[in-house]
Amino acid sequence: MTALAQNLEKLESHLARFRAGGILNLIGGETVAGAGGTFQTHSPVDESLIAEVALGTAVDIDRAAKAAKAAFPAWAAMEGEKRKAILHRIADLIESRAEEIALCECWDTGQSWRFMSKAALRGAENFRFFADRAPAARDGQSLSAPGQLNLTSRHPIGPVGVITPWNTPFMLSTWKIAPALAAGCTVVHKPAEFSPLSARLLAEICHEAGLPPGVLNLVNGMGEGAGKALTEHPDIKAVAFVGESRTGSMIMKQGADTLKRVHFELGGKNPVMVFDDADLDRALDAVIFMIYSLNGERCTSSSRLLVQDTIAEEFHARLVERVNRIRVGHPLDPETEVGPLIHKTHFDKVTGYVEIGRQDGATLAAGGSRVGDKGWFVRPTLFTGATSDMRIAQEEVFGPFLTSIAFSTEAEALKIANDVAYGLTGYLWTNDLTRALRVSDALEAGMIWVNSENVRHLPTPFGGVKASGIGRDGGDWSFDFYMETKNRAFALGNHKIQQLGA
Ligand code: NAD
Repeated sequence: MTALAQNLEKLESHLARFRAGGILNLIGGETVAGAGGTFQTHSPVDESLIAEVALGTAVDIDRAAKAAKAAFPAWAAMEGEKRKAILHRIADLIESRAEEIALCECWDTGQSWRFMSKAALRGAENFRFFADRAPAARDGQSLSAPGQLNLTSRHPIGPVGVITPWNTPFMLSTWKIAPALAAGCTVVHKPAEFSPLSARLLAEICHEAGLPPGVLNLVNGMGEGAGKALTEHPDIKAVAFVGESRTGSMIMKQGADTLKRVHFELGGKNPVMVFDDADLDRALDAVIFMIYSLNGERCTSSSRLLVQDTIAEEFHARLVERVNRIRVGHPLDPETEVGPLIHKTHFDKVTGYVEIGRQDGATLAAGGSRVGDKGWFVRPTLFTGATSDMRIAQEEVFGPFLTSIAFSTEAEALKIANDVAYGLTGYLWTNDLTRALRVSDALEAGMIWVNSENVRHLPTPFGGVKASGIGRDGGDWSFDFYMETKNRAFALGNHKIQQLGA
């Protein structure tokens, strides 16, 4: 039996219960149907029906928000060490079910097995990282002033909403939910309608691990239905959102009446700048990995290659050869490097950019065509000879689609790099240290890697500037979002108080 056949057989055993009973919501510790009936989720691999999914509405969100509000005082008051123990148990269970999570995630999203098996384990790491920080999350500072001692402390903000996208849903959900729970917040999670499977698994795992009812609530549904209602609910104090920039802007408006605190991780059009003094073999590997892994459906993907004109021709030739060899195939085949795109609308969007690139006058150097006639497979695509004003150089395609622009000087490279609405990440390849310092200082991005692909380190700040987001996750930054800082000032003696009307 091939590895693919084995994976498919295992997947079937995990999916059977969802096929029979649907993917339901979890509110106040109970599995419940959605007030709006159901919607269907299909696999991007062959367009087959995976399951009926509970269609949550404002009614379900209200129930979930009330459950989160009711559970908040006890969860917030629980000793940090106890919260830590529960979060570690969640991580244990994620690890023990990592294969099931990865199989379901591949089938639901089209992401390939080689990356998803690690993504499930990264979800467990997210829980462990924040679990260990739960006991000290409230700690603050002692700040002395003349005659007064100030004490700061942090307190969980209350019930929060977490809204996640479909690209790597399990990893991203854990990245948001783990710090919220560690901080002492309760959560209502609205996962993306295109990838509901792993959110259900996460909610089940959390409860199995002993998370009290109401601390994590799951409501499936549409963005404009359940999602919107969550951002407008008065009991929800903050919304952590990962998704498109224009959705972020809508959420900000929707949350305005209830003065929601928001944290946004949004889109990107990230540059990878390759100077002619770089280690070009390593740069080539990183350029390819950072746009074609995870089907290019990755916020931090380096979707713009800025390559120095002195090396552009040779670099492109080597790039084309490699891109043409990338293995597109079934996501559960361990050999597969690129799987299908998430759904038809997204497939139409990504392939639509092939025509846009041609019309704009760039050169289609690789890919661009559909693979097979079932499922949403597309050949990894490369456009060369682009200029910064082209739509393929400005707009987030969010697929295995790379736009290459040649530059001649460092100043020109920087100008092009910063000439977009986004500013999530930047990648820089050079062996000139002072140039690396200079360019990374001027690059408009929240995260920059020099001579490296994206390597996550959980204590570091994660987030973007410009249209790529507001706020930072990671380390203590996550707690800054999920907690309120309080200052208490104590007089140290009988200082003079002004006497009005005396
Ligand atoms: P999306 O904005 O369409 O949807 C994301 C989530 O928002 C979904 O759960 C959706 O149902 C919900 N939603 C939609 N409209 C809403 C509304 N009016 N109110 C409340 N919720 C609403 O994004 P997507 O297509 O699922 O994901 C792809 C995008 O996510 C890309 O732009 C990508 O760059 C971005 N992303 C960013 C990061 C990051 O860390 N910066 C990480 C992953 C993905």
